[in-house]
Amino acid sequence: MSDAKFISEEKIYLTKPFLPPLSEFNQYLNEVWRSRCLTNQGKYHNEFEEALAKFLKVPYVCLFTNGTLALITALQVLRITGEVITTPYSFVATTHSLWWNNIKPVFVDIDPVYCNLNPDKVESAITPQTTAILPVHVYGNPCQVDKLQEIADTYGLRLIYDAAHAFGVTINGHSLLSYGDLSILSFHATKVFNTFEGGAIICHDARTKKRIDYLKNFGFAGETSVVAPGINAKMNEFQAALGLLQLKYFENNKNLRLIIAESYRENLKAIPGISFLEPAKNVTWNNAYFPIFVDAEQFGHTRDELYNHLKMYNYICRRYFYPLISNFNCYKDLQSTQNLQIANIKSSQVICLPIYPDLNLIHVNNICKIIKSYKED
Ligand SMILES: *Cc1c(COP(=O)(O)O)cnc(C)c1O
Repeated sequence: MSDAKFISEEKIYLTKPFLPPLSEFNQYLNEVWRSRCLTNQGKYHNEFEEALAKFLKVPYVCLFTNGTLALITALQVLRITGEVITTPYSFVATTHSLWWNNIKPVFVDIDPVYCNLNPDKVESAITPQTTAILPVHVYGNPCQVDKLQEIADTYGLRLIYDAAHAFGVTINGHSLLSYGDLSILSFHATKVFNTFEGGAIICHDARTKKRIDYLKNFGFAGETSVVAPGINAKMNEFQAALGLLQLKYFENNKNLRLIIAESYRENLKAIPGISFLEPAKNVTWNNAYFPIFVDAEQFGHTRDELYNHLKMYNYICRRYFYPLISNFNCYKDLQSTQNLQIANIKSSQVICLPIYPDLNLIHVNNICKIIKSYKED
């Protein structure tokens, strides 16, 4: 049943983190060893913050040691309390960040095209306790930012974007990160841009940046002054130096990802029961992920059958996002888990295929052929 010529010799995973040449990174490490400045807003931290703001075309960047602490801190920065409307179709950290702030997550269903929080369903979930909306630009595809802002303005809510997937994405020529009150990035090893681990909050004014910088460093505002009960979420010099170096390679990596995504689209377009996302016209996408959706009836096999079938050929894909956050034990008894029909369907259909800059197109071809011949079984 399995066609031996398509079996990959090595296991191919969803992603393989990009790293620059070690010789280039060594120059930065030499400087760290010389200066003994390892953390606490050091030289590379400040250089990377500035370079990143310029690169992303946003006014202010606040670096963090990971994306989850950036999320948790962002909610503290704006003093979010009570209930927050969010999407169940994301990585668990989105909802966990609310829980860590003693905030009740209120799940709202997603749109059936891009799998982002559906603005048309947000208003009916707003209660007197609601203080903010926390949507996710899933797979790097922009949420309906104008509609969400209008709702936030009408009801006096804060709008914080989990933009962990959205590094380098632009919409109508602007950075996607310029929308909402705050946006959060992740530079985890699995993301399009990595610093081993890392993250950032994007904000739009100097006063907010100042408060974020206090909060991420225990609340210190000076040698002897603590102005808030802060946390330790600073990015260290090792991460920041790597980030500076990684910036040089991002555009090229983005182009390589685009070639892979286009090859998937070309090869998968005529397979009944397999669908994928098309980039919107006004968006430059980062191709962080390549999700496909399996309609079991049309395809003749379920999503899990296809996932396991690909595994037999050493192609180890991921079911992002399955299970839904709202189906995990810690959240499943919340009342708002009841009305998430689209999210449950998408979560049962999705497989993310391998995509990373140095993925050989032979593998892309093989994966598509395996899927095609499995359909014809
Ligand atoms: C990766 C991710 C996070 C968490 O980021 P870390 O840097 O791993 O802490 C948060 N939200 C989403 C949607 C993510 O994919």
